[in-house]
Amino acid sequence: MSEDGGDGAALDEDLRVPSCERCPALVESRSRIVDGVGPTDADLLFVGEGPGATEDEEGEPFVGRSGDVLDEALRDAGLARADVRITNCVRCRPPDNRDPTTDELANCRGHLESEIERLAPELIVTLGKVPSEHLLDRSVAITGESGGVVDARLAGESRRVLLSVHPAATLYDRSQRDGFFETIARAAELSGVGDREGSGGDGQSRLGEF
Ligand code: SF4
Repeated sequence: MSEDGGDGAALDEDLRVPSCERCPALVESRSRIVDGVGPTDADLLFVGEGPGATEDEEGEPFVGRSGDVLDEALRDAGLARADVRITNCVRCRPPDNRDPTTDELANCRGHLESEIERLAPELIVTLGKVPSEHLLDRSVAITGESGGVVDARLAGESRRVLLSVHPAATLYDRSQRDGFFETIARAAELSGVGDREGSGGDGQSRLGEF
């Protein structure tokens, strides 16, 4: 993150998608387009699959029970949600919580790549199988590969990607909880965000003070 102060938590209007109707089924099922949240110069970018019911309702990625787990893991790693940026592969809720189709992922790729290019984060963390396979362009056995770091060509450059299970996996399988928390701690360490004095952990980011 830049050290020139400013409102790091503010959403940059450039990264908002004010209107988009490329995916007819998702336009039908969504209440709104759910853009990424967090500083537009964040060093740590989390990428999920797409909005679920709560995200669609509230207009923010990773809220509800999955978001609670992610927030807890971030706090455990000494970070606050406001220290990181969180986005999704598709910005509109698929019907019946189905996975986004290949076409829908491709349709929304440009929005995600613009976000990655603008942030140029130190580290991208994929939350779950769908975003991991989408960004790496290969099949991923996410439970086995979670915690691994790979390079992927994204938005015109080679970028470091840390693979992770989806936080919801810890709700259905408690044995995955420790691994998920360790992966988020690793994300903080690799991105350098957790090392900074004043970084999060108390729900209030103080990075803007430096
Ligand atoms: S998912 Fe992305 S590409 Fe599809 S309609 Fe929504 S914003 Fe547009």
